[in-house]
Amino acid sequence: MLKQFRSKIEEKKKIEGALGILEWDLETCTPKKGQQHLSEIVGYLTMKEYEISTSKEFRDMIETLKENPEKLNEIEKKEIEVLSCEIEKIKNIPPEEYQKFSELAVTTQGLWEEAKVTNNYNLYKDKLQQIFDFNIKFAQYNRKDEKNLYDVILDDYERGMTTEKLDEFFKALKKEIVPLLHKIVAKGNPSRKLMTSTPVESQKKFNRVLGEYLGFDFDRGVVRESEHPFTLNIDKNDVRLTTKYMENNPFSGVFSTIHETGHGIYEQQIGDELKGTILACGGSMGIHESQSRFYENIIGRSRSFWKGIYSKVAEYIPVLANTSLDEFYKEINIVEPSLIRTEADELTYSLHIMVRYEIEKAIVERKITTENLPEIWREKMLEYVGVAPEKDSEGVMQDVHWAGGLVGYFPSYALGSAYAAQIFNTMKKEIDVDKILESGELYKIKEWLGKKIHRFGRFKETEEIIKEVTGEGLNPKYYIEYLKEKYSKIYDLDI
Ligand SMILES: [Zn+2]
Repeated sequence: MLKQFRSKIEEKKKIEGALGILEWDLETCTPKKGQQHLSEIVGYLTMKEYEISTSKEFRDMIETLKENPEKLNEIEKKEIEVLSCEIEKIKNIPPEEYQKFSELAVTTQGLWEEAKVTNNYNLYKDKLQQIFDFNIKFAQYNRKDEKNLYDVILDDYERGMTTEKLDEFFKALKKEIVPLLHKIVAKGNPSRKLMTSTPVESQKKFNRVLGEYLGFDFDRGVVRESEHPFTLNIDKNDVRLTTKYMENNPFSGVFSTIHETGHGIYEQQIGDELKGTILACGGSMGIHESQSRFYENIIGRSRSFWKGIYSKVAEYIPVLANTSLDEFYKEINIVEPSLIRTEADELTYSLHIMVRYEIEKAIVERKITTENLPEIWREKMLEYVGVAPEKDSEGVMQDVHWAGGLVGYFPSYALGSAYAAQIFNTMKKEIDVDKILESGELYKIKEWLGKKIHRFGRFKETEEIIKEVTGEGLNPKYYIEYLKEKYSKIYDLDI
């Protein structure tokens, strides 16, 4: 039985690998007129994969293996656990309803695009409500002993995460970060120098140097460009990431590269013992984001990191030749209330997530509907971030997630930042991070993360990893302390 199981998994993984390559191709180089054809192949293979995963043969196999755990090693046990959990969720939802939901998500995403361009929220608000209704219905099917329906939804992205924990997390943020932001705004910001024209070719060269410096293995990975940067794991020996260059804003590309490199290093360091299993990839979305944000913000926006490499950068990005390290450090950490989440700074970012969290939770709890979302959005943005959009395209319509069917996904972004700070707190006790950064020995950080987090892939749950590494579950205290300490120094505040 185990042999047949392995061969099914192999088949599944081969299809997933092919789908990964197709996705990569579609995002990075497929000619416009070729996209339709490739999308059809993607559709076909996705269906094949779905057929294997949901076939009676495969389900029976998992059931039998589950009943005979003594025949399984620890890795196989975990695989069976993960798979039966997935199957359980699919089984509870009538296929025709799931089909309808998938179609609705495609239609709504199309309407959203149009609505965003024409700044007309009403165009898709009813469909958006239907998306939420489906999510609510599916959660009802899958509800076991969860206190809240929203917990069931959260569980899809971050196993074990609850509304209770998130409420506590965002309450702490609200109490500490919103007043900190007010103090920073009152202080004002230095004028910007770094947004100067820099040839894309030399940006590319620098980003390559940077990737190597951070520890990305180019013998087992590539970097290309795409509209929305992402990382893809075909296999731990074939990790692909993209970045995006802007001629007049060289550090936009730099931070995209650092972020995706964080995801990439994670995938490259998955343990060899997991090869060929379904566990051979990064864990939950929250833990994955913790690694990219750790590299991007905690390392990449620190003074020590740039001190270690600063003399080399001006060769590629000339504006640094007449910018002091101190000026540079302050500029890459400018805090400014802004409307768009993806462009937000490190401090205000989680406040943008808080707005989305409160809204989606309230819709799932049937306290509000999609009817008045633009107004609710404006109120919350003004209260937390301090600015409100005039146009809904820069407000409630800015993200594709909800229209594309993703409800419960946003909190993972903020959790990623919080996990990163909590992990950093432990790391600092065990190794001298500043010294390592200043001397350019980044492999020591990579090794630390590899040993404590990366090698486990999906073998361990996020909660388990956080507890093992830091000695406790998610505790917002570390994230808040990290932000307060960093920004009170930069803005010379006494708090
Ligand atoms: Zn990311």
